[in-house]
Amino acid sequence: MTALPLVFDAPRRGMPPRHLADLTREEARAAVSELGQPAFRADQLARHFYRGVTDPAQMTDVPAAVRETLTEALLPGLLTVVRHQTADDGRTRKTLWRLHDGALVESVLMRYPDRATVCISSQAGCGMACPFCATGQQGLTRNLSAAEIIGQAVAASAAMANGELDGGPGRLSNVVFMGMGEPLANYARVRKTLDALLTPAPHGLGLSQRSVTVSTVGLVPAIRKLTEEGRNVTLAVSLHAPDDELRNTLVPINTRWKVGEVVEAADAYAKKTGRRYSIEYALIRDVNDQPFRADLLGKLLAGRLAHVNLIPLNPTPGSKWDASPLPAQREFVARLRAAGVPTTVRDTRGQDIDGACGQLAAADQVDGMPSVALAAPSMEPVEAPVPLGAEADQE
Ligand code: SAH
Repeated sequence: MTALPLVFDAPRRGMPPRHLADLTREEARAAVSELGQPAFRADQLARHFYRGVTDPAQMTDVPAAVRETLTEALLPGLLTVVRHQTADDGRTRKTLWRLHDGALVESVLMRYPDRATVCISSQAGCGMACPFCATGQQGLTRNLSAAEIIGQAVAASAAMANGELDGGPGRLSNVVFMGMGEPLANYARVRKTLDALLTPAPHGLGLSQRSVTVSTVGLVPAIRKLTEEGRNVTLAVSLHAPDDELRNTLVPINTRWKVGEVVEAADAYAKKTGRRYSIEYALIRDVNDQPFRADLLGKLLAGRLAHVNLIPLNPTPGSKWDASPLPAQREFVARLRAAGVPTTVRDTRGQDIDGACGQLAAADQVDGMPSVALAAPSMEPVEAPVPLGAEADQE
């Protein structure tokens, strides 16, 4: 079932030029000084960058004579829009980005009545080889730089501020690392991204910790490292099976870190941060959706600071698997709740633009190079508890 090997070490090739967002504030100030400019210009550039200003002509607080030089040196354009696609009456917008080396990644911006969430990619492709995930089946092209990851969130923030999504101007409130890639396999750059997301404006996007979610296949040492960072972002663990035998096939990293170890690492995170973690579980017909597996999962999670987000599988091209039928979903929810485990079924956005999890496998010719952009899972946890018969939550 798992044709692909697990890949941890990303190829070094293709990393983009240095960008202000890769640097600490001190490093950015030093870089500006090296260019013969007063250090405070770094702060001016940061203010423009985090507001989504990329055109030097708009940077009127920077002397015209040095705008181009500073922009070229510290704000190189790293993300080029290939196309936007909208769905859900204009409330969901998926963007396909081309990176400087032709690699393609996606992000998905979703507007809700009370919040706006962007789902961002942390790698081009993914090395974790989960067989039900289109991105996982493509393998890893490369890690994204911090600036390439941060840039997706900044673009979403600017799009909200500029009223580019239906409903008028608004504010980006949430970021989920549920696009392409395994964020904890690109740890250092994801950590820098967290800094940028959480640092107050104008030096960051000023989001609150609880509104940022890092989703992982369960890289246990990296979860432990994250626990020690002292940040309280939300942790989501892609479990997909309560037993090692099945999880070894669905989430191949399980051959290295078992269900018990992953859940223990997540518990330690919850204990340190006081934050409930999410367990993600794609419901796959006749694969992991049996009542006995719901009971096993309930037993595993009862009494832990966890809640379960069930995701009816979005079938990927060529896959033999399908989503669980509604009665099986309902039964699964009921059994988990009976075990005392808070459970929701995810609101899936963007299905009609292949923006939902694992759906997209668009191949694009970019600069004569074939590049592959794959499914950015475009979902986020439903925050309010949903009633049984949770199909109301699936759009
Ligand atoms: N690599 C990280 C984040 C990316 S995926 C992780 O695995 O957590 C975000 C979520 O979408 C994960 O839980 C992933 O397992 C799930 N997913 C991937 N493909 C899917 C599909 N075809 N249907 C439903 N969920 C899927």
